[in-house]
Amino acid sequence: MQSTLPKQDGIKEKMDHFKAALKLNGVKLTHQRMIIFKEVAESEDHPNAESVYKAVRKKLPMVSLDTVYRTLWMLQDLDLIKNLGGKDRVRFDGNMKPHHHFICNECGLMRDFFSNEFHQIEIPKEVKNWGNGETVHIEIKGICIACSKKSRVKSKKKSQL
Ligand SMILES: [Zn+2]
Ligand SMILES: [Zn+2]
Repeated sequence: MQSTLPKQDGIKEKMDHFKAALKLNGVKLTHQRMIIFKEVAESEDHPNAESVYKAVRKKLPMVSLDTVYRTLWMLQDLDLIKNLGGKDRVRFDGNMKPHHHFICNECGLMRDFFSNEFHQIEIPKEVKNWGNGETVHIEIKGICIACSKKSRVKSKKKSQL
């Protein structure tokens, strides 16, 4: 029998969960916090703090990058978003369901995908040496469609010279 993977929650479920988590932890629900959370929750880009800041400034002209930073870390402490580490900038993920990532080596595009096959992967025994494996997160790295188109145009131009 095929197991079905839990898909990403809709924005309504996410907002309900957000409000409940704030209340549970005694954190005040402010318009600012809601806008910042919504930005990450709705985004498919796995944005870093600067991108979130740029996006929310349209709705929150008075907000500072520092506030956005602090809010994002607070949301991650409340288990409402995840931080993904990253080479130079920490990126945040609003999808809390188990999923995997495709990452473009050129432009950093990051997209979620679900796979029953990957979901059923057994955690290698050697992991036991360090602890108990609970989830498997697979990153597929490559070149996205947009970047491969760009490089094709470039090499075409070169060959015409
Ligand atoms: Zn790309
Ligand atoms: Zn993700």
